[in-house]
Amino acid sequence: MEEQARVYGATIKTGEEVVSIEKIDNLFNVRTKTNLFLGRSVVLSTGSTYEKLNIPGESELLGASVHFCATCDGAFYRDREVIVIGGGNSALEEGIFLSGFTKKVKIVNRRATFKASQTYIDKLPELDNVETHYNKDAIALDIDPDGKFAGLRVKDSITGEEEVITADGVFIFVGLKPNNASFKGLVEMNERGFITTTGLAKTSINGIFAAGDNREGAIAQVAAATGEGVLASYGLREFLKN
Ligand SMILES: Cc1cc2nc3c(=O)[nH]c(=O)nc-3n(C[C@H](O)[C@H](O)[C@H](O)COP(=O)(O)OP(=O)(O)OC[C@H]3O[C@@H](n4cnc5c(N)ncnc54)[C@H](O)[C@@H]3O)c2cc1C
Repeated sequence: MEEQARVYGATIKTGEEVVSIEKIDNLFNVRTKTNLFLGRSVVLSTGSTYEKLNIPGESELLGASVHFCATCDGAFYRDREVIVIGGGNSALEEGIFLSGFTKKVKIVNRRATFKASQTYIDKLPELDNVETHYNKDAIALDIDPDGKFAGLRVKDSITGEEEVITADGVFIFVGLKPNNASFKGLVEMNERGFITTTGLAKTSINGIFAAGDNREGAIAQVAAATGEGVLASYGLREFLKN
């Protein structure tokens, strides 16, 4: 993709973090920590970041036994056991998806109830390979002497008792944060900070477009983000023509 973009005249600047965007004399002034770029139009495609638990063992096991996307990595756990951490829609939706082909799904929730839609909550009792653990705070991911995941250490928020829940892998769904901090006040965003768009990836500011995971309603898959980039390019072309 990068090669193709260069063939059509794109210039790619790496190592540049955008800190602000301002419209001056019909040009968008895009400021990075070290440079200023001028453009008649801008596409914001800064993606989003999965929230981590920031507990011991997590960074060591990232991508090995710790995952953030069931559709991406779930297939590694066919007929094996997994732990799902979280209690919202993502945790339950992805947990239910994983239950379709794994041996067991253990959902670990730090609250006494789930925050997810009732439809997902009602579905759980119908699945005999799903187990729920309430009031459990994840405090560490244990690693065995071979460097492999050995279990999730949790603390009961009522009794204070600790236990280890075992499985082959862990999926963490405790939130997704859009990388939109530099654009606050520039374009409209929803209450979670995702950019709202209409039509051809248009934001609330004429000439600024948003594509990919930083946009409200994003599917969080490579193919979708790429497609939105194409959509934005059409919006951008229409804008520049006018
Ligand atoms: C561990 C993991 C596994 C995944 N596996 C799959 C998979 O198997 N299949 C699948 O379809 N999807 C997968 N995904 C999801 C997929 O990666 C995303 O949906 C996709 O990359 C989103 O594309 P994007 O362009 O919107 O954002 P990104 O790919 O996140 O790109 C955003 C870019 O913007 C940069 N950026 C952020 N802020 C600034 C700033 N202020 N200034 C300048 N640059 C900035 C970032 O450094 C990054 O390079 C996975 C995601 C993760 C985290």
